[in-house]
Amino acid sequence: MIQLYIPLNFLGVIYREIKQSLADMERLFSLLDEHREVADAPDAQPLRTHGAEVRFQHVDFSYESKRKILFDVDFTIAPGTTTAVVGHSGSGKSTLSRLLFRFYEVNGGSITIDGQDLRVVTQDSLRHAIGIVPQDTVLFNDTIEYNIAYGKPGATKEQIVAAAKAASIHDFIESLPDGYGSMVGERGLKLSGGEKQRVAIARTLLKNPAILIFDEATSALDSKAEQAIQAQLKEIARSRTTLVIAHRLSTVADAEQILVLDHGRIVERGTHQSLLAADGLYAQMWLRQQARVDEDLASPASPGPD
Ligand code: ADP
Ligand code: MG
Repeated sequence: MIQLYIPLNFLGVIYREIKQSLADMERLFSLLDEHREVADAPDAQPLRTHGAEVRFQHVDFSYESKRKILFDVDFTIAPGTTTAVVGHSGSGKSTLSRLLFRFYEVNGGSITIDGQDLRVVTQDSLRHAIGIVPQDTVLFNDTIEYNIAYGKPGATKEQIVAAAKAASIHDFIESLPDGYGSMVGERGLKLSGGEKQRVAIARTLLKNPAILIFDEATSALDSKAEQAIQAQLKEIARSRTTLVIAHRLSTVADAEQILVLDHGRIVERGTHQSLLAADGLYAQMWLRQQARVDEDLASPASPGPD
């Protein structure tokens, strides 16, 4: 019972963040095509990954000169492992993923992948190496096939179908009148949250990136679909270097490393167990969330977003 209640309960906790992240994702996609502020160095080389160790070294960052957002952020994600970032809304979590994607340039320090500074590699190769699985997938107003193939331009139909099968969305697609040619998005079929996310997973599987970013800011899923998707995300994260912007304890608890971000600084780091034992901010957040779960269990008729 408790297992089933946790994700629903979290929806309430993160209600405001949900709206922010929807905007984030739309922004992200428009940035993919339009953001040209960051240019390739004249002698930029393609990124070469072998294991894909991600390293933030003393990173300082601000969007605007007056307000600093990240302060001396320093961490390493060992190849093939998962690092989760937790912290209150506005603490700078999504900013980390934007910097890793090099939508913006760091103001101090450096970010490297397998020892190569992001500033000396081509942006195409960088974005090729990184896959993002958002909880709120923005689908293009195009066919479902196009939406999956977007992960890998030039993919064959066989590859697209294989990815759809691996993401458990193939049978659903086949059941549509127009199959893979069905129009989706705002002006087409409205897919459920779970279906959209499976499309995103298929897209990412097709892309087969060395590095994954999950910004799991929201989920409109019921708890059963939620659990199925968590299992799938875990599967695709296996043996890939993964950065999770986390809200769910289930994801966090499994991560090799958890970073607690507070006003742009890493204030705690460790595993779920070691952070609980440290009895700091993470332990407080955990206790507060547990308390909310108990509250909701005591009065199941009244849960809902705040
Ligand atoms: P989180 O993901 O932890 O909620 P973000 O990384 O999205 O936080 O944002 C960190 C801070 O940076 C917030 O104060 C936010 O208002 C600010 N911020 C985010 N994006 C921009 C932007 N494009 N321009 C200016 N400030 C921004
Ligand atoms: Mg965010």
